[in-house]
Amino acid sequence: MDREIKTVRIMIGMYCRSRHGRGKALCEDCRSLCSYAEKRIEKCPFGESKPVCSKCPIHCYKPEMRKRIGEVMRFAGPKMIFRHPVMALRHLITQRGSIEEQGRES
Ligand SMILES: [Zn+2]
Repeated sequence: MDREIKTVRIMIGMYCRSRHGRGKALCEDCRSLCSYAEKRIEKCPFGESKPVCSKCPIHCYKPEMRKRIGEVMRFAGPKMIFRHPVMALRHLITQRGSIEEQGRES
């Protein structure tokens, strides 16, 4: 669980720094998005064995928040591969099968 939360924080941080330019601190919008995402992770009934969020049957994000977190993922996801390979592989939004194949190769 901690790892998921850390991943989300890093991704939102990257997104906010580049899009909203507040230096190290998150802007207010991104801060609320971040704490919202953390709560969803904490409450996720699937725990460690959950599917990738985009494939999750529950859709626990409210539509507005899902849109915002989706933007963050699209922005930060591809960059995570280079900066944080393990976490990126685990969390990615793209097709699950191709990600798992990449994991096996390395
Ligand atoms: Zn921001």
